Amino acid sequence: MKDFFYFCYEPLLKLENADPYLTVFVYMFIVFCGLAIGSFLNVCIYRIPINESIVGKNPSHCRTCGAKIKARDNIPLFGWLLLKGRCRSCGEKISSRYPIVEGLNCLIYIITFTILDVNPKSILYCFFFSTLIVIGFIDWDTQEIAIFLLGFIFFLDILAILLVKDAQLVYINDVISPEISLLNRIIGAFCISVPFYIIGELSGLYIKQQKGEYVRGIELGDTFLMFVSGLMLGWKLTVFAGFLGIILAAVCGIIYKAVTKESKFAFGPFLAVALFISALWGNDLIDWYVNKFLVFPE
Ligand SMILES: [Zn+2]
Repeated sequence: MKDFFYFCYEPLLKLENADPYLTVFVYMFIVFCGLAIGSFLNVCIYRIPINESIVGKNPSHCRTCGAKIKARDNIPLFGWLLLKGRCRSCGEKISSRYPIVEGLNCLIYIITFTILDVNPKSILYCFFFSTLIVIGFIDWDTQEIAIFLLGFIFFLDILAILLVKDAQLVYINDVISPEISLLNRIIGAFCISVPFYIIGELSGLYIKQQKGEYVRGIELGDTFLMFVSGLMLGWKLTVFAGFLGIILAAVCGIIYKAVTKESKFAFGPFLAVALFISALWGNDLIDWYVNKFLVFPE
C-alpha cells in the first residue's frame, strides 16, 4: 500500500526527459482535454446561475435565433474562429467568452503539466483550476458563488488528503520537496477564511450603521472559497493567495470605480486568479520576496 502512495508522487511522466514523439502525443492529449473540458466549463458558467442541469440534454444553440449549432461548428475554440464569431443561421455575434474560456482552460492545463509533470497532483490541480474558472466567471456575472462548486473543491481536497496519507515527499522536477501535511492543510483552511469572516461581519455591521442596509464587505462565498482552497494548498500558499487577491481586487477596484462610479463588484474572480498564481508559483515568489527584501545585514 505504501508503494501505491509513493507511486502517486513519482511523476508518471517526466515531460522534459520523455521521448519527443511521446511528448508531442501527450501535449496533444492535454490540449484536447483542455479544450473539451473548457467547453463543458462554458455549459457550467451559462447554466448554473439559471439553475439548469449541467448534464441535461440541451444541445448547444444560438442564444439569439435558437438555431442548433452543427457538430462541425461546435468544436471548441476552432468552431468559433471558423465562424468568425457569428451564428451560421442568423449572423448574430456569438459571445467571445466561449473561446476565451476554452482557450484559457487549455492554456492553464499546458502550464500546469509543464511545471508539475504528469502525476495525480497535477491532474487534481487542473480540476481545481477549472473549478476556479467557473467560480470566477459566475461570480463576476452574478456576485454569487454556488455552494455546489465549493463542494466540488472540497471533494478534490479529500482526494488530495487521501493521496498524501503515507508519503510525505514529492518529486517535482527531480527535487524532493515536502508534501503538504494534513495539519498544514487544516491551518490553511482557517488562516484566511477566519479573518475574511471577521472582516465580513464587522464591515456588514458598519455599513448597516452608515447606510441602513446589511451588505458584507467580504461575502460568505469568498470566505468559503478560501476555506476549501486552504485545504488544497496549505497555509503558506493560502496566506500568499489571500494577500495577492486583496491587492489585485484593490487595484482593479480603484480603476473600476473610476470608470463606472460603481463601488460593488465581485471579489471571487481576483481570489481565483490569486489562488492559481499561488498554487503554481507561490513558493518561488515567497522565496524571491524573502531573499530580496528580508535579508538582514550580517
Ligand atoms: Zn443565430
